[in-house]
Amino acid sequence: MISSVKKRQKRNKPCLSLSSPVGALPGVGPKREALLADLGIRTVADLLTFAPRRYLDRRSIRKIADLRPGESQTVIAQARSANIKALKRKRIATVDFEDETGTLRCVWFGQPYMAKHFRPKSFYALSGTVRIDRFGISMIHPEYEDLGEDLLHTGRIVPLYSLKKGLGQRQMRSLIKFVLDVLSDSIVDLLPSTVRNELNLCNLSEALRTIHFPSCFDELEAARKRLALDELLLLQTLFALGRLNRRQQKRQKRLSMSQSDLEAGLPFTLTRSQTVALSEILESMNCDLPMRRLLQGDVGCGKTVVLSLAAIAACFDGGQVAVMCPTEILAEQHYRTFSSFASDFGIEVGLLTASSVGRNQIFQQIEDGRIGIVVGTHSLLNQDLRFGDLRLIIIDEEQRFGVLQRLNLIEKNPEAHLIVVTATPIPRTLALAIYGDLDVITIDEKPPGRGSHKTRVVNMSERDMVLEEIGKRLRLGEQGYFICPALSEGEHGISNVEKVISELRRRFGEAKITALTGKTDRITRETILREFREKQIGIIVGTSVIEVGVDIPQATFLVVDQAERFGLSQLHQMRGRVARSSNDSISYLIFSDSASEIARRRLAVLESTFDGFEVAEQDLLMRGPGEIIGTRQHGLPELKFAKIPDDLDLMVYARENAFRRVLEDDRSEGWGEWIDAVSGVTEGRVVIV
Ligand code: ADP
Ligand code: MG
Repeated sequence: MISSVKKRQKRNKPCLSLSSPVGALPGVGPKREALLADLGIRTVADLLTFAPRRYLDRRSIRKIADLRPGESQTVIAQARSANIKALKRKRIATVDFEDETGTLRCVWFGQPYMAKHFRPKSFYALSGTVRIDRFGISMIHPEYEDLGEDLLHTGRIVPLYSLKKGLGQRQMRSLIKFVLDVLSDSIVDLLPSTVRNELNLCNLSEALRTIHFPSCFDELEAARKRLALDELLLLQTLFALGRLNRRQQKRQKRLSMSQSDLEAGLPFTLTRSQTVALSEILESMNCDLPMRRLLQGDVGCGKTVVLSLAAIAACFDGGQVAVMCPTEILAEQHYRTFSSFASDFGIEVGLLTASSVGRNQIFQQIEDGRIGIVVGTHSLLNQDLRFGDLRLIIIDEEQRFGVLQRLNLIEKNPEAHLIVVTATPIPRTLALAIYGDLDVITIDEKPPGRGSHKTRVVNMSERDMVLEEIGKRLRLGEQGYFICPALSEGEHGISNVEKVISELRRRFGEAKITALTGKTDRITRETILREFREKQIGIIVGTSVIEVGVDIPQATFLVVDQAERFGLSQLHQMRGRVARSSNDSISYLIFSDSASEIARRRLAVLESTFDGFEVAEQDLLMRGPGEIIGTRQHGLPELKFAKIPDDLDLMVYARENAFRRVLEDDRSEGWGEWIDAVSGVTEGRVVIV
């Protein structure tokens, strides 16, 4: 980890440190500073850890002595002497360049100023057709590139960055080179020596230099591994510190309700998986430590039921429960589900979203404890909202919230238990990286009596056939969803809700077809869902809004237009909406003609499996973790060098070591400095993840 640098650099160099804003660098004014900020580069450390996207091998440059006549070639040489001659009316500039093997004369006719253009002793790359005659080796009007005193842009392996307009590769390289030169002696390597030795890693400033300016490709992987380990160890140390902090929280109250009391009133028996999950949750709620759990399970496996029962247990002795959902639609859905279970126990359930009326009254009822379970959206984060006795926090569809939001809710009572819920099953590898300190419970079976589900991936030419099929189903009284990537006509050629609505209405005039999107207001939404439940509506057309929530088991078909525009896990969520009853169901994923071969192969995964874990694993392999769960959004230290799942071994190593050292308070061999520095990263905030 990069976190401290000796304060003073050599005299007459600017006083720079890793935490200096990039604006402090020479040549970086407000404009360039803004361009860098767009790339997430605010400090000098950000700049140094801005990983190249790829590299160009520009080492194959000839020495002057090896130049061949008649061919266009490139050399790198130092400017030596220049002069101007007159030939007839024309003036000719000649400049001599040298490398350790010889001299090259470059000639410009009619451009006398070229004689003054090159700084003596500076390096230049020169490309052109070579002439060799009795006067020596020469090029006429060569292409040239000023390389300064160091080879940066050519003659070596050259880094290429992902930049935005207005910022050039050359500027970026020069800036990074400058920082490396000024700072590299003073970068303090905090990685404990045991780690460095055990894994045989290079030191930090060497790794940073190599990642930008490798002298050969073999060095690169070693440098990347070193930087990846820093990131993973930082992450896992943060998790470990969170756990340590939790151990210091005070004792929890015990529950007076038993699992059998809770299950007694259910209209069905819990599956084996649900029973295990519930008993683990209740057991943790009876422990001294605040619980931190991740409950994961495929769509429709019955997580919400388990959560409702846990919430009832927490409330029964006068405690309160907050349930945070990412969308209003899901909050309303959960409000209904939680209410249906809780009312038998005489527990009051409240709903708090941006469209809630009588907000102050709700706040008051939460504060004085009259509302036992409050289901809501981000509105729950409101500073003015205080709980009488918050004992359990449930965060649903977690991947949509950032870590900071999670923290804000937890800060309402750090002693409360926490269950984070995800229906996008997260492969173990990733769960370790992201939810380091959450104990994972998995519900891995579906309630009995579910119908079968078929997924068909089809191309545009089969779209008409798909519409025929759903037409038949509509006439049989079946219902379903139609999903488009866009809301209205925007970008050309993107399927959108407005267009599809009129298309479907034209075609199936008799069945009621309606739109349900993120823009639909609450009252309309409630009416639509009620009418859908009552079978007055045949098809709901939407963007991806039904992806979360909407538990209307009778729906049996799903059509997704331009399915390649959605992520696999997202599509899996969508089809989960129609596979929730004893009826057989079907999903049609239509891809456009322009979909790439890779996109088609990805979609085929959905045809072959309905297992959400398998889908997530495949998605992870094909797309990398960032896109699936938006690692960035998590507000966790970003992984710039570590690759998941490739670096799993490295992560397991980081985790074991960090947890052991932190929890056993073993500060020997440099771990003390490391742990202190990591605590500094959180600026004194307790990280509970
Ligand atoms: P999830 O939240 O995991 O997507 P839900 O809890 O919403 O799943 O459950 C999906 C549907 O299955 C709901 O209609 C729910 O009432 C029903 N269900 C849940 N558990 C069982 C069970 N053990 N037996 C029968 N039906 C169940
Ligand atoms: Mg759910």
